[in-house]
Amino acid sequence: MAEDDMIWDLSQLVDSTDPTSIKQRLKSMVSGAEEIRDRYHGEIGGLDTGDLLELLELKDDFTLQFEGVTMYCRLAYSADSTDEVAKQLNDAARRSSTRVDQKLAFIDLELGNLLAENPSLVEDPLLAEYRHYLERMVRKVPHMLSEQQERLIILKDKNGIEGWQMLQSDWLSTRTFDIEIDGEMRTLPYGEIIGFYESPDRDLRKRANQIVYQGLGKYEIVWASAIRAICEDHLQMCELRRYPTPMTQSLIANDIQKETADRLMNTIQENVGLYRRYLGLKAKLMGLDRLANYDLVAPLPQAPEREHTWREARKRIVGVYRGFDREAGDWMAEMFEERHIDGQVRRGKSSGAFCASWLAGKSAYILQSFNERLGDVYTQVHELGHALHAYLGSRNQKPSNYEISSCIAETGSIFGELLLTERLISKAKTKEEKQAILTKVLDEFGMVTFQVSARFFFEQNMYEAIEQGTFLDGEAIARLWVAARDKIYGSSVDWLDVMKWEWTMKPHYYMPNFRFYNYPYVFAQLFVFALYRLYKEQGKEFVPKLKNLLAAGSSRSPQELAADLGFDIGEETFWEKGIEQAQEFIHMLEETM
Ligand SMILES: [Zn+2]
Repeated sequence: MAEDDMIWDLSQLVDSTDPTSIKQRLKSMVSGAEEIRDRYHGEIGGLDTGDLLELLELKDDFTLQFEGVTMYCRLAYSADSTDEVAKQLNDAARRSSTRVDQKLAFIDLELGNLLAENPSLVEDPLLAEYRHYLERMVRKVPHMLSEQQERLIILKDKNGIEGWQMLQSDWLSTRTFDIEIDGEMRTLPYGEIIGFYESPDRDLRKRANQIVYQGLGKYEIVWASAIRAICEDHLQMCELRRYPTPMTQSLIANDIQKETADRLMNTIQENVGLYRRYLGLKAKLMGLDRLANYDLVAPLPQAPEREHTWREARKRIVGVYRGFDREAGDWMAEMFEERHIDGQVRRGKSSGAFCASWLAGKSAYILQSFNERLGDVYTQVHELGHALHAYLGSRNQKPSNYEISSCIAETGSIFGELLLTERLISKAKTKEEKQAILTKVLDEFGMVTFQVSARFFFEQNMYEAIEQGTFLDGEAIARLWVAARDKIYGSSVDWLDVMKWEWTMKPHYYMPNFRFYNYPYVFAQLFVFALYRLYKEQGKEFVPKLKNLLAAGSSRSPQELAADLGFDIGEETFWEKGIEQAQEFIHMLEETM
């Protein structure tokens, strides 16, 4: 049963939801971009600092002005990809955005050239608000191509890789799977059947995994073609843009240095033993010799079984954020009151969950499929943490300073999860309840820190294989996937054979310009675990520090943000601090056994 407030209200994003008026608005967006182009094209090199500031502010105003209409089209489509009007509007918005991107591509290029000639502009006090924005641009300059080439690349991505991405997402959200539940055959959409991965019924979990991945593997030929094209394209783009490694583009986009990423991944490799130790403990709690892949995120059999209604989750989560900070709690309450969250489970809805920042509205929109499980409550607190980031960022930064590195983008969300954990543990009445919560947190930590690292190794394996001349058909990709997985899990887990097709459903691998999306999640998880330690040590004194970090958006680099809190992410010991927090949770779990 869906509550009234389980379906979001997207009408706030636009003046009118009438499709004709929306298309009209999209047209104005394109002509707005044309006006900016007419005024500035070929002129940026000759602008004085005052005029340059005016252009940067104009560009930000333009973003805010048309953010709502494109967001409306995108979100309406993610809410129901089978709706004809939503399909049409999403397509119209995509085409308009492509035209805008093409028309405005000259700004970054001309600005890049200007900065190459006059790097001291970065330090100009008049441009102080844009300092880090310009610094990031300086790093991109050596890899920029001519305007003509850049425009072609945008076009190539929109109709090439973005086409793969849309196919993958539409395909997955419209798949149905036949599964027997309580003696009755049922046909379920992907978004619903994956809910059974966390079922307390081990056989049902096993069957759900087997049915889904067997179904996905049948189409491996499609997804191998996609992955092959995307990876080949990336390697050729690296050559064209003179990136020294396939990872460089990601390092620049995430605003971090190679040494930081190397140190992080070393820490992971050195600590796989810790994760395997936890998996051993979980197996013991489940009465098993060894976990199977379908036990990794499963609840403990003795976990108190109960459903978490939408209403309860709402009350608890708002309470958790209020306990941390009054203002944060009020904003989270507003997300529900204003109906900015879509939690209903239905066919045609995009799978997974996301939070889309709405800068012009100083708020955000969240999509999830709420199946009344503890995991759904965690997803909700996670996405609301992203919303908190948007509330603070939109109040303090211009859109140019809200291009947040994925390393930092998960700070609010994971911190929110830890706040929820703390509340749930304090309310736990039995050791079984405590175990259920601690394993939930450690499962998530293991998935994000260690399993995502396997996805990083997988991506590395693919580029190495291509460079060695290996043809990546489905089976070859599956072998690389399994090899990367084993590097983390060793022999600590039994995998269903069909799990070799897991890469077919990871949306990130199909997104344009998103290669090596993975290690920033690992960064974020360890970063927040370390911040959480600090919060435990400092108490209320820490609250404004975290709010300042979130409010900074991308106006400071991850390194600077960490330094504000007294951390040096270039130090060996930094990453170990996050590991220590995980050790403490494992210790708390051992104490209950
Ligand atoms: Zn997130």
